[in-house]
Amino acid sequence: MASINTSQLVQWLDNYLQASRFKDYCPNGLQVEGTPTVQHIVTGVTASQALLEAAVERGADTVLVHHGWFWKNEDARIRGMKKKRLAFALEHDLNLIAYHLPLDAHPEVGNNTQLALQLGLQQDKDEDGQPIGIGPSGLIQLGYLETPNTLENVAKKLCQQLQRSPLVVGNPQQIIQRVAWCTGGAQGFMTEAIDAGVDLYISGEASEPNYHYALESDTAYIGAGHHATERYGVKALGDKVAAQFGVKVEFIDINNPI
Ligand SMILES: [Zn+2]
Repeated sequence: MASINTSQLVQWLDNYLQASRFKDYCPNGLQVEGTPTVQHIVTGVTASQALLEAAVERGADTVLVHHGWFWKNEDARIRGMKKKRLAFALEHDLNLIAYHLPLDAHPEVGNNTQLALQLGLQQDKDEDGQPIGIGPSGLIQLGYLETPNTLENVAKKLCQQLQRSPLVVGNPQQIIQRVAWCTGGAQGFMTEAIDAGVDLYISGEASEPNYHYALESDTAYIGAGHHATERYGVKALGDKVAAQFGVKVEFIDINNPI
């Protein structure tokens, strides 16, 4: 069975995802040190207790996620759920590796690019072929539908691809061509999408103001699910790691309706 040194893997990931470029809300890279050799990786959106248990059940030694632990502003004390998760990881010698913003933004395996592939969205690109983003860390992607379609039909396609019915605000018959999107909890950036003059802004979650903004501007809003919009980045990253190092990698989708 193929294997790789844990520190070599993390170094490769840091470099591939350009992790040092980002000012993030959590540490990126190796968050909890486990076994020094990696043979079997489980990938998933969030390092929840359920994902850790599923990983151990499958005999994995490493968990690679988009949402890891140790978030800025969280209570630093190790107690309750946090104690349980950490004790479980240590007891099973699991490596926990997490990449947050670097895995949203990456031009190839990033959540935003991968969501575009799901929906058939063309990304605006600069002269170097890199996707053009606006807003904080350039995380909001701009692009377009090659064939303009109604909001209703765009929502239908989203529903089919993501296997989830999205929250849609706007006139169902509105023609959508220019689109901005940012996976996960980026509903707060909607005004930047409106300023960019797009017909539709897509993110994962929704907040109360999104409703009014969509009705009072020419920009419709779709909340397609935080989890649902962020499944594809870590999955693509896992495929990349498997191809690069030949280690076993499996994606586990722990369902989350939010
Ligand atoms: Zn997220």
